[in-house]
Amino acid sequence: MRKINEIFYSLQGEGAQTGTPAVFVRFSGCNLKCDFCDTDHEGGELMSDEAIANEIAQYPAPLIVITGGEPSLWIDQSFIDRLKMLGKKIAIETNGTNLLPEGIDWITCSPKPGGKVVLQHIDELKVVYTAQDMSVYDNLPGAKYLQPCSGKNLDEVVEYIKQHPKWKLSLQTHKILKIR
Ligand code: SF4
Repeated sequence: MRKINEIFYSLQGEGAQTGTPAVFVRFSGCNLKCDFCDTDHEGGELMSDEAIANEIAQYPAPLIVITGGEPSLWIDQSFIDRLKMLGKKIAIETNGTNLLPEGIDWITCSPKPGGKVVLQHIDELKVVYTAQDMSVYDNLPGAKYLQPCSGKNLDEVVEYIKQHPKWKLSLQTHKILKIR
């Protein structure tokens, strides 16, 4: 059984997959305690892999996004193998502090203060800009996406990217569009 906060169908709002219809599988709980975290870590229900797969299968989305909380605390190879049987691409959004099972098609890593990234393969790095020391991301792989903090410092982010063009802008388009 795995602790699920919610499963819902929407569009991916951020990063390289922006605009892609996706079923979001949000796990409960995290191994970090970021000050700015707005995720509910307490709620959720225990679900079997069969129940999770059946719920995902209701939707025609080509993509599953495994997110949290920190989903790496809850997933293993048998879970990914079961999702693979649905014939959809699998993406994950992780803080990168735990190794992942094989077979995930797209890995988004959002490193957090106090969380050492152990992943060797990352498809995209997604960072919220708070004028932090950006050199900590220099040695991490993956396409680099920078996001404003709660939509408030867009001008600063645009200027930073213009000065550091290995980064690209990522906006929380689902919030702009007022969808989930
Ligand atoms: S890593 Fe993400 S989910 Fe975990 S505490 Fe930090 S912001 Fe919240």
